[in-house]
Amino acid sequence: EERLISAEFSEGDGAEKSLRPLSLAEFIGQRQLRENLHIFIEAAKQRGDALDHVLFFGPPGLGKTTLSQVVARELGVGFRATSGPVIAKAGDLAAILTNLQPYDVLFIDEIHRLSPIVEEILYPAMEDFKLDLIIGEGPAARSVQIDLPPFTLIGATTRSGLISTPLRERFGIPLRLQFYEPEELQQIVARGARILEMPMTDEGALEIARRSRGTPRVSGRLLRRVRDFSSVAGVELIEARDADVALKRLDVDEAGLDAMDRKYLRIIADNYGGGPVGAETLAAALSEQRDVIEDVIEPYLIQQGLLQRTPRGRMLTSSGYRYLGLSEPRDVSL
Ligand code: ADP
Repeated sequence: EERLISAEFSEGDGAEKSLRPLSLAEFIGQRQLRENLHIFIEAAKQRGDALDHVLFFGPPGLGKTTLSQVVARELGVGFRATSGPVIAKAGDLAAILTNLQPYDVLFIDEIHRLSPIVEEILYPAMEDFKLDLIIGEGPAARSVQIDLPPFTLIGATTRSGLISTPLRERFGIPLRLQFYEPEELQQIVARGARILEMPMTDEGALEIARRSRGTPRVSGRLLRRVRDFSSVAGVELIEARDADVALKRLDVDEAGLDAMDRKYLRIIADNYGGGPVGAETLAAALSEQRDVIEDVIEPYLIQQGLLQRTPRGRMLTSSGYRYLGLSEPRDVSL
């Protein structure tokens, strides 16, 4: 079953391409990151060099792919996209690299899922724009070195800790994306509504924004569903209460949490005395993949102060208890 507010890309999001900002100036939020990126881009352009390799990390749906496209556009170079799991063999990567035009941006999504063999090929390519290949087998095998055009690798991953240290160290520009503030998402929603030609008040946009888990992909998805409900109900100007009606029906609550988030918090409260409890145990209890728990569900709950990650496991915070309408058990441990 598709989780409406999962930040993971899904088929129904195909239309989200139309909502993608095309330039840094159009890109809302991530201010500090954007300012730094702007300087690095201008400097590379002035020097006539390829931009240093960039690593974006942060939860899904925050704009890593979008920013990568924006970077290529601002540099005025070509953009090639692939992803870690798609590059199965060293030869696949070699084919991609040898087909790049000088200064192109090569975007590798889920870069933490590259195999070690493929990673090995990437190191000299990133460092010296060289490809070391072994041709033939056994005693006849010989190594050849191929020069590559200068290029910029942009990697994206959900957590920087997922990628190997040698790979991480080869990125000159590591950048972490943050959850968006409601005011930023409000602008993103308002912009989306204009593009989709949906009349909406500022309060309507803010209502959707507040309940989007700090994530533009989620706000785009909620915007489309609010449009569905409103058009069927014959609403011409979408106001906060119209958005609220639609979001309630989608089971997205006041705090922007959905059924899965609530179930997650409840399990910790009811079955594990508020924690600490390990990710593996929670994944089993929720029949959900550990990755989804760690990359999609937990980061937002932590950011909202409902959950705490400790070395011994996950724990509900006082706010977490309050959110569930439960009183916090008194600490009886010594
Ligand atoms: P990620 O690669 O981090 O998973 P994407 O770049 O695919 O995220 O972004 C998901 C969607 O959210 C994009 O299609 C785009 O429409 C929207 N989006 C992301 N960041 C912004 C932003 N700053 N302003 C407007 N829309 C955004």
